Amino acid sequence: MTDTKTYYHELTFVLGEDRVQIDEPMSRHISFRVGGPADIFLRVGDTAELEKVLGILQTAGVPYFFLGKGTNLLVGDRGYRGAVITFTGVKSQPLTDTTKELPAIEAGEFSEAAPLDTVCIAGEEITAGAGASLTRVAVMARDNGLSGLEFAAGIPGSVGGGLVMNAGAYDGEMRQVVKSARLLMPDGKILTVSNNDLRFGYRKSLLKEIPAVALQVTFRLTPKEPSAITEKMQDFANRRLAKQPLEYPSAGSTFKRPEGHFAGQLIEEAGLRGYTVGGAGVSEKHCGFVVNRDNASAAEIRQVIEDVQAKVLAHSGIRLEREVIFLGEF
Ligand SMILES: Cc1cc2nc3c(=O)[nH]c(=O)nc-3n(C[C@H](O)[C@H](O)[C@H](O)COP(=O)(O)OP(=O)(O)OC[C@H]3O[C@@H](n4cnc5c(N)ncnc54)[C@H](O)[C@@H]3O)c2cc1C
Repeated sequence: MTDTKTYYHELTFVLGEDRVQIDEPMSRHISFRVGGPADIFLRVGDTAELEKVLGILQTAGVPYFFLGKGTNLLVGDRGYRGAVITFTGVKSQPLTDTTKELPAIEAGEFSEAAPLDTVCIAGEEITAGAGASLTRVAVMARDNGLSGLEFAAGIPGSVGGGLVMNAGAYDGEMRQVVKSARLLMPDGKILTVSNNDLRFGYRKSLLKEIPAVALQVTFRLTPKEPSAITEKMQDFANRRLAKQPLEYPSAGSTFKRPEGHFAGQLIEEAGLRGYTVGGAGVSEKHCGFVVNRDNASAAEIRQVIEDVQAKVLAHSGIRLEREVIFLGEF
């Protein structure tokens, strides 16, 4: 095992000092706005850097976690003992809305040097780095008259996180529009994996089964009038505003939808609308959301989630499965 000083030095040699943070508060990086420090926080720009960084961490025996935009995550108050690696907001290119101005990169042919939050269009396909924002890709698709990602415009995560979770809303989910993904496999090989082999299911994919890293995703979309796409996105946005407690920090729907039921309804029927522990609680507006109402701790949010699971099970016999991922020490 390499000592801390040595691997810190090696990491800064690869990324530069400004992209290696020590004891970085995770509350800055997750949508619940809670969470203690990660021992090391690394902003990785491209695949070549990623391979070097993983080599250093593996040699040093340091555990690591890939962070997208932190919108489906609860990090404990005592933080994470290891390295958190992100690709978001590192080297992104300016958003551009004409295919002409974009580099002519064919799907799946991003160079190793392409920043991991780049978005490129080739005909009816968009290839986006895992660190790109899903909203940004959806808007770019719309501006180029490409339909299919309307559902994603209001999902605040990254392309990588969306792939892992098979993110979806209203009439769409990632499974319907992903053509393939470039993955760094656990054995160090980089593969282009087709939709079928990504094993999408309800809020899951192959990346929930194996510790591969999503590098890029290629979407196959359909031509449509931008005004019709805008109309659909606007309708979805209005529905979100009306139903979801977007005024409070959260991670979206806390629980998966149990087959044949709605989590929110089961929670309400168990008498838990507005149920509170400290600053955390079940949203009054939408019982499927646990929210950080008033400077909650991660432990309080976790307590609400676990109490809801226990009380719904006692009331209805149905076990609510968490959609939100727990990380670190609480
Ligand atoms: C207000 C709000 C509304 C939401 N609405 C929706 C919705 O309508 N539909 C929906 O599905 N979700 C919704 N969510 C939840 C969340 O936005 C999605 O689950 C999203 O896909 C998570 O993406 P992320 O980048 O934030 O991932 P994170 O939360 O950062 O990570 C999620 C998982 O993906 C892994 N991961 C991330 N990037 C990579 C990578 N490059 N390689 C390997 N693993 C990676 C992480 O390790 C983690 O296990 C909502 C959240 C909020 C806060």
